[in-house]
Amino acid sequence: METIKNNLEKINEKIKKAALKVNRNPEDIKLVAVTKTATIEQIKEAISAGVKIIGENKVQEAKEKYQVLSADIADIGWHLVGHLQTNKVKYAIEIFDLIHSVDSIKLAEEIDKRSLQFGMVTNILVEVNVSGEETKYGIKPEEVEPFLKEISEFSRIKVRGLMTIAPIAEDKEEVRPYFRKLRELSEKIENKNIKNVKMDYLSMGMTEDFEVAVEEGANMVRIGRGIFGFH
Ligand SMILES: *Cc1c(COP(=O)(O)O)cnc(C)c1O
Repeated sequence: METIKNNLEKINEKIKKAALKVNRNPEDIKLVAVTKTATIEQIKEAISAGVKIIGENKVQEAKEKYQVLSADIADIGWHLVGHLQTNKVKYAIEIFDLIHSVDSIKLAEEIDKRSLQFGMVTNILVEVNVSGEETKYGIKPEEVEPFLKEISEFSRIKVRGLMTIAPIAEDKEEVRPYFRKLRELSEKIENKNIKNVKMDYLSMGMTEDFEVAVEEGANMVRIGRGIFGFH
């Protein structure tokens, strides 16, 4: 039963090493433990081993886990990392502190509307399809700025950064240019000072590629299998 704790130690060590390699402070990097394959017991174990943020990729599953875990997760952040359908927005904004996957005006509009109804402001990231793969969600890099300008008019949404999922690659170095491109895009956007838009977070890097992502500036990595084991 020590595996999750051991896995976490190894991952934190690797994050630290990757950060120090490029003169970054390892403390600046947030680890999102992606629990889509994890059981309730495993999630509890991860929390007692120090996990501070849980990432889920389905609203329904998160809702169920949230109810069961509520006593254990008072200080734990919940992030939605997977795709969000418009009809699930009303549940999602109640559960999640940050939605990583906003990729359409329609979705942003619904988040804004529901957030207003609930008297809240919702933090989001914009998902960018940097690699241009057709199978991926996310908006094209060149459309990000106009997109942000449009959603900056939604007063109940705060954009906190960008997210991407790199292509699957055998050689980790192949994904480096995609991560670099997202970081450059986020720097460019930060300089534009768009209303309601801040580039606090750069969410990139998963089990296979988080070290490269950290070297390229990620400050939020989303790791599932590396923590909970390979299925
Ligand atoms: C599953 C998932 C992850 C974690 O992937 P692993 O390869 O298990 O680390 C990260 N981000 C998103 C969007 C996911 O769906």
